[in-house]
Amino acid sequence: MSLDSLIAALPEGTVVTDPDIVASYRQDRAADPDAGTALAVVRPTRTEEVQATLRWASGHGIAVVPRGAGTGLSGGATALDGAIVLSTERMRDITVDTATRTAVAQPGLLNAEVKKAVAAHGLWYPPDPSSFEICSIGGNIATNAGGLCCVKYGVTTDYVLGLQVVLADGTAVRLGGPRLKDVAGLSLTKLFVGSEGTLGVITEVTLKLLPAQHSPCTVVASFDSVEAAARAVVTITGKIRPSMLEFMDSVAINAVEDKLKMGLDRNAAAMMVAASDEKGPAGHDDAEFMARVFTENGATEVFSTSDPDEGEAFVAARRFAIPAVEAKGSLLLEDVGVPLPALADLVAGIEKIAAQRDVLISVIAHAGDGNTHPLIVFDPADADMAQRAALAFGEIMDLAVTLGGTITGEHGVGRLKRPWLAGQIGPEAMELNRRIKDALDPAGILNPGAGI
Ligand SMILES: Cc1cc2nc3c(=O)[nH]c(=O)nc-3n(C[C@H](O)[C@H](O)[C@H](O)COP(=O)(O)OP(=O)(O)OC[C@H]3O[C@@H](n4cnc5c(N)ncnc54)[C@H](O)[C@@H]3O)c2cc1C
Repeated sequence: MSLDSLIAALPEGTVVTDPDIVASYRQDRAADPDAGTALAVVRPTRTEEVQATLRWASGHGIAVVPRGAGTGLSGGATALDGAIVLSTERMRDITVDTATRTAVAQPGLLNAEVKKAVAAHGLWYPPDPSSFEICSIGGNIATNAGGLCCVKYGVTTDYVLGLQVVLADGTAVRLGGPRLKDVAGLSLTKLFVGSEGTLGVITEVTLKLLPAQHSPCTVVASFDSVEAAARAVVTITGKIRPSMLEFMDSVAINAVEDKLKMGLDRNAAAMMVAASDEKGPAGHDDAEFMARVFTENGATEVFSTSDPDEGEAFVAARRFAIPAVEAKGSLLLEDVGVPLPALADLVAGIEKIAAQRDVLISVIAHAGDGNTHPLIVFDPADADMAQRAALAFGEIMDLAVTLGGTITGEHGVGRLKRPWLAGQIGPEAMELNRRIKDALDPAGILNPGAGI
């Protein structure tokens, strides 16, 4: 396929064909070994360049894989043979409007950069995936990313007021805007949130902002049983709205301690990191309440602090859990979630699967959302172990669905979880998904094989 007309339609340097550079865009953090090799990487800076790329791709029947920062954990940005990888990394403008308390950002800006830009105006963009320093805001919207404070503040979609999206045929559409209430037409803005690059390319987003967060009180607790920690979560969320309620099991605690050496309790079966950002005495009351619930549920050690740096050190430890466990081997990363009362059953069921399949599975969780990340550790050179890990991967998703849960709480279906989607949502919802996809992308050029 000649790229000449695409190269001619775009500013110099936008289309990259250097094989080494193209190869560096093959995988996301799911490291799918079946990733293909793209024809080229296109790195636009403006919506019009995205339009030109999609017009060219639809005219030539070429697949397009939208890509933000490539930190996805479900293979959603995995390159396909002969496709265009459309990277938004050079789309990095942001403007903040304090009057409407909104920001208009291009998709390639990192989540942390959005937070920093709005903080300069005394404002706050809450969604905080653990990867916030390395993932793009466009990727967050395309996956409807969650994070640590989502237990109180909701997920990405709760902060998306408007979008500009380029459709498969190159048409640019504006949806929503800086209005807190707007029910004109169908909720198309929300349709694109979490659509994993399958319905259009997000080229601009209008984000809702909040006033700056109060400094949190943090409570850290160790448990000698995972189920006891899960029970404490249900009691806490039934009474108050913590701003964080995170969980790490013993494998994760030890993996983090190996690297950070911060004195975590290596003998604990589970550790909870909880916080309240209520103002003044209300925050202290919440922290006291959580400490009491942890103790009543058998916590072996409870530590509270209102010192922001001390609290942040524990939060950083929790954020570091995935890279720390990754040091033990290759990972198959799960993202299953359940209604909160089923959390203890999910965690116990995962333990059973690990024992039956004889593989190491570390569980970390945004526990207050019922959203767990079982991390299945395996050695790809050991074919038998790799197969057992793959079986465990499917069984954990089946277990979550049986418990009334989901195969993905925040990472998306991507390519890795697609075979399990129909089992969760059922044939009628699958058909509806397909009809929407066909209506927006009849030739199926947008991220084929990912998501729906
Ligand atoms: C250590 C670590 C911790 C993580 N913790 C969390 C967490 O706490 N919560 C969480 O939700 N996720 C987490 N993630 C996963 C990941 O960071 C998120 O899914 C993030 O939203 C992906 O953003 P990205 O820019 O890297 O997107 P990519 O990986 O590049 O792409 C993700 C998907 O979005 C699509 N896409 C990207 N940009 C666009 C666009 N502009 N228009 C249309 N489609 C687009 C891609 O096609 C793909 O399907 C973590 C990842 C790592 C490595």
